[in-house]
Amino acid sequence: MEPIAPSPAPDPGAEVGFLHSVETGAAVDGPGMRFVYFMNGCMFRCLYCHNPDTWKLGGGRRVSMAEALAEIAPYARFLKRAGGVTVSGGEPMVQAPFVGELLRRIKARFGLHTALDTQGYLHANVADDWFDPVDLVLLDIKQFDPAKHRALTGKDVAPSLGCARRLARLGKPMWLRYVLVPGWSDDAADVAALADFLRDEVGPTLERVEILPLHHLGAFKWKELGLPYALDGTPPPSPERIQATRDIFAARGILAI
Ligand code: SF4
Repeated sequence: MEPIAPSPAPDPGAEVGFLHSVETGAAVDGPGMRFVYFMNGCMFRCLYCHNPDTWKLGGGRRVSMAEALAEIAPYARFLKRAGGVTVSGGEPMVQAPFVGELLRRIKARFGLHTALDTQGYLHANVADDWFDPVDLVLLDIKQFDPAKHRALTGKDVAPSLGCARRLARLGKPMWLRYVLVPGWSDDAADVAALADFLRDEVGPTLERVEILPLHHLGAFKWKELGLPYALDGTPPPSPERIQATRDIFAARGILAI
């Protein structure tokens, strides 16, 4: 396993964060309707990333903790009934002190269901109790094969797998998210190896697997940033391939949607 990378910029601490944007009515980032904070900063370079404008930590809007809490306050009563809050990115654990405190205060003040959308690469930087205010982790694992993961993301998969094991040890409910990319992450043997890992080393804390078919909705951002978009021309997976991938998980007793 390679050493855990440090945050890409000095730790802004728990009272100041860098926020890309918020979304008030997301229906795909956890159970029910979600208020989503998209945080800046990510050390991965996923070829299909639809938010490359979140990669640079300092590229986000600098907000105080009070300002971040004020964003969600008007919606809190509705969210308590309808869903909750999700912190996403970018990679939210790049700003672990701020995000941990934000989740803790949202939980204490509004009593909302909380979800963290992460690829888990930096999990070793935080103590177990950092996860206490997190009700659900949406864990993104991009590929199980180490070499293919590195080709797809620029980083090693081992820390993400370690995060999955740790969340299982903590008994933390988890949804695993898997982006299905033809030629990059749709090999049946790789998916089967991931499914075996989840069955054997994660177990019942894993509530579901979400198969996310490749799309190109973020391609324009790569162009705006002057970055080459390597997946130009890669088609989305066929309905048959998506179903075959779901079946690999189902054969191991894992719900995949
Ligand atoms: S982990 Fe997420 S934000 Fe980071 S590069 Fe990959 S898709 Fe983009």
